[in-house]
Amino acid sequence: MAKRTILYLGNPVLREKAREVSEINGEIAQLAEDLKETMLAAPGIGLAAPQIGLSLRVIAYVANPREEDEEPKAEVLINPRVVEASDETEAETEGCLSLPTLQAEVERPAEVLVEGVTVDGDVVQIEASGLLARIFLHEIDHLDGVVFIDRADPESLVWVVPDEKAEGGCRYEPTTVEEAVERFARLAERQMQRLREGEC
Ligand code: ZN
Repeated sequence: MAKRTILYLGNPVLREKAREVSEINGEIAQLAEDLKETMLAAPGIGLAAPQIGLSLRVIAYVANPREEDEEPKAEVLINPRVVEASDETEAETEGCLSLPTLQAEVERPAEVLVEGVTVDGDVVQIEASGLLARIFLHEIDHLDGVVFIDRADPESLVWVVPDEKAEGGCRYEPTTVEEAVERFARLAERQMQRLREGEC
């Protein structure tokens, strides 16, 4: 297993439509392990293959994201798709490992039925609600080149800034989609430079 570099928004791979996986071979099994390891190390509760530079329809997710006193249960789903989504929606705060320290409110279906293939080749259907439904919708969006700020309430967009004087240890600075996109584009440019030079 290997921890991989998580790419910033601004890297073109994050805006591509990822390809379906046609065969689960050793490379896909390795990708699945790398995705899980990178997600848990971040730490995060979801990660899509394009976020580590592979334009393939594979996601990792934490199956028990609400159980904070349990070990996170990392799972992988290949070629995931939303079969059904509830009309009922929920707006909650979201963030993304490719847009670190940015948060916004995103309205999404409260319940989903997702279908995909496990690394063992089994077709599975998963019913999810609340945070897990949100993880699936956020990660499947990544496979279509969509990031959470595309769906967020722009008024709710904030940088989370560590501040020991603030309640909870951080303060929230309002921002705009334009400012955020610009900041990550600069970070992505430097990151691509480092990756080309083989420093990461
Ligand atoms: Zn994300």
